Amino acid sequence: MPKVKRIDHIALVVENLESPLSFWQDALGLNLSGTLHVPQEEAKIAFLPLGSSEIELVHPTNPESGLGKYLEKRGPGMHHICLEVDDIEGMLDQLRAKGIQLINETPRLGEGGRRYAFIHPKSAYGVLVELYEYRADVGKLD
Ligand code: ZN
Repeated sequence: MPKVKRIDHIALVVENLESPLSFWQDALGLNLSGTLHVPQEEAKIAFLPLGSSEIELVHPTNPESGLGKYLEKRGPGMHHICLEVDDIEGMLDQLRAKGIQLINETPRLGEGGRRYAFIHPKSAYGVLVELYEYRADVGKLD
């Protein structure tokens, strides 16, 4: 049976990277491991590792993208939580069998061979949930 292993990251949508970093990095004292521009997702991301998880600040670079519109409509704040699973296909099958609505029926391939899929917030009580399978052979996004 497919298993959820841990929280991989919590993604926060932000209007820019600098001012939220003054809170997370300067006020709370988290470390910034790096920032990345991901053209494919039209976003700039700042990574703040925390235990075996991390907080990601995601700044949409295109106001017309899905994330850009989300920010415009709802303002900055929580965007999604990402759970690492050991078998993403198996987990998607299990969710489908339980009538859970998925945004991605099959895993999408991200940078560095990262495979991920989103569960619809309608089926997750208002929370956008990302599933992610770590593959040691291809490495992580960051
Ligand atoms: Zn994510």
